[in-house]
Amino acid sequence: MCGIYIHIPFCKRKCIYCDFYSVCGDDKLYGDFVSALNRSIKMRKDKRIKVDTVYFGGGTPTVLKSSQLALILNTVKNCFDVSPDAEITVEANPCTVTRESLNELFIGGFNRISFGIQSASDDELSALSRLHNYEQAKEAVLNAESAGFTNISADIMIGILNQTRQSLADSIEKITSLPVSHISAYMLKVEENTPLDKMIKRDSNILKSIADDDEMSDRYLLMCRLLEEKGFLQYEISNFAKPSFESRHNLRYWRCEEYLGFGPHAHSYFDGKRYFENCNVSQFIKSDGKSEIAYTDTDVDKAEEYIVLSLRLAEGLDTDRLASLDKEGRYRNITSNAMEINGLADERLINISQNGKHLSLTERGFLVSNTVISRLLN
Ligand code: SF4
Repeated sequence: MCGIYIHIPFCKRKCIYCDFYSVCGDDKLYGDFVSALNRSIKMRKDKRIKVDTVYFGGGTPTVLKSSQLALILNTVKNCFDVSPDAEITVEANPCTVTRESLNELFIGGFNRISFGIQSASDDELSALSRLHNYEQAKEAVLNAESAGFTNISADIMIGILNQTRQSLADSIEKITSLPVSHISAYMLKVEENTPLDKMIKRDSNILKSIADDDEMSDRYLLMCRLLEEKGFLQYEISNFAKPSFESRHNLRYWRCEEYLGFGPHAHSYFDGKRYFENCNVSQFIKSDGKSEIAYTDTDVDKAEEYIVLSLRLAEGLDTDRLASLDKEGRYRNITSNAMEINGLADERLINISQNGKHLSLTERGFLVSNTVISRLLN
């Protein structure tokens, strides 16, 4: 089974903290893009490829018309063997959907929707320069439910400017009382050269309104606890779901399973190779779907990659799978090293299953995952 990722690189307006590749466009640009994207998918048509997850991400896919998104999905279904029970997700911003557009998306074949809500505080949303307020977010989720979506995800952000523990708890309370079955929670990071980064360089006082590392950790642990109380189980460092509502598509990335990406900068992992479409929107449109492919992983150690990605998951790392990727046997003793040499189990940063075949990070381990993983790799 394979996943398909469709990258829609458009946003209504750039948020001050965002460093993803996306641009603001108009109807003409969107129309040209959809034509090029359809062509690009058709050029890689292969009905032998079985697909069980399709994910439209961005950017903000819902800046396109629902009919355009449904058309692209239809092209995917015509070009690949998409299973009838495939998980088909579209990312959306609350201010880019209406009751009608959500109905059209559901009828058009999408069965999962992921809203970038971030916070239930309008002050925090405006500090992030988001275009929606909480009332719009709530309405969007309720409209999605009325349209027929039963698998709805919401993003929550930790460490927003002027956020407090109480306001984070309020956001979690309000957002989890909506009909959502999945939460993705991200910490605000000041990425270089974003408008937020430039604002801070001009006025370092702004930093005082953003949680420092210790406070961020406390809020993360608070959030894990509150989400668990609401029935959302942590299955990945940043992702929580009601039972059986884990994102099947995103699990594919962390389990090092195959996916094909379409659109500018979209990444693929297929046939043992990682590559991406090396172009911006106008190059993509000009190439009419024949954009340049760049390979990214010629030197990547597959075993190391598996360790890094699988340890993001609560299910953790399977030593049999690791052995099959670790041709030189470099990590043959990873579980005993973790216990005896690195003492990670003693520090309550990792769990090792009784039969020694699975290794996973604890909640505390998730907080310092980079350090734990580099100790395991060394
Ligand atoms: S809507 Fe999302 S992708 Fe677009 S600018 Fe904001 S954070 Fe970035």
